Amino acid sequence: MPISVVTGGSGFLGSHLVDRLLKEGHEVLAVDSLLTGNERNLDHLRGEKRFRFLRHDVTKFIAVEGAVDYVFHFASPASPIDYLELPIQTLKVGSLGTHNALGLAKAKGATFLLASTSECYGDPLVHPQKEDYWGNVNPIGPRGVYDEAKRFAEAMTMAYHRFHKVNTKIVRIFNTYGPRMRLRDGRVVPAFVGQALRGEPMTVFGEGKQTRSFCFVSDLIDGIYRLSQANFHEPVNIGNPLELTILEFAERIRRLTGTKSTIVKSPLPVDDPKQRQPDITRARTILGWEPKVLLEDGLRETIRWFQAHLDSTSSK
Ligand code: UDP
Repeated sequence: MPISVVTGGSGFLGSHLVDRLLKEGHEVLAVDSLLTGNERNLDHLRGEKRFRFLRHDVTKFIAVEGAVDYVFHFASPASPIDYLELPIQTLKVGSLGTHNALGLAKAKGATFLLASTSECYGDPLVHPQKEDYWGNVNPIGPRGVYDEAKRFAEAMTMAYHRFHKVNTKIVRIFNTYGPRMRLRDGRVVPAFVGQALRGEPMTVFGEGKQTRSFCFVSDLIDGIYRLSQANFHEPVNIGNPLELTILEFAERIRRLTGTKSTIVKSPLPVDDPKQRQPDITRARTILGWEPKVLLEDGLRETIRWFQAHLDSTSSK
């Protein structure tokens, strides 16, 4: 039975990955400081013999006894509001945390998979974004703490691959949504859905002309699992190429929730990327992967989940 360690295992993506790995027959150790993760995301695994949880901050040495076959490094604050509130932690988990997770993989002879990000492309001047684009990142802006930490993490991962011959993979994750997102993490999906369900005005930043492409979490996790099994070491974009303006996106959520919420314009955050759309040719070719879930279907499921969790998630 393969043994996997998932850092950030109680977060939105980490917890879905844990579920998938258990389904694939792995034994899983989730490691999380619970800084932005939520133990409730793993509640349903209580009593599962192949699952363990370790509360630990991976910026400190990660001690794991016994064999490990895979290390999935998913620990990080992940929303622009989190980076503003936790800038040093964001930098540390991308740098020191990645170093420790790579060190664990090297010591155990394990495969390592880094959760990287479309933020490596910054406010991209190339559209759609292909993996060979080097990006347009402001290192000293408010998002720089995340973007540069992840860019460093990629550099460190490739160094461990080239120098220490660790079997490494890098996924560049584009905007993803689904159940278990934190209602108040400030990202656009929980923000709009929460506002729509509460009947509050929906806050579109700027003129809402900036674009994003939203991938449902089950599609994303499938791409990541396939990448973990592939013999490929360069970064791979995983995301849904369907591109919408944020204003169009707000309208869709209004329609699907049937809300009477109005749309209000708020100031555009500093360095907010103007456009974002993954080129997924590489994922299609190497992993035979492409997203399957239609935006409407994914959003309906997400809205249902938020409806059921509106009260219990409002504190986090
Ligand atoms: N956004 C918005 N209203 C909100 C939250 C976000 O208009 O209440 C916009 C934000 O300016 C950005 C897009 O939605 O252009 C996606 O933001 P998010 O924070 O989800 O992630 P990003 O893709 O910027 O990392």
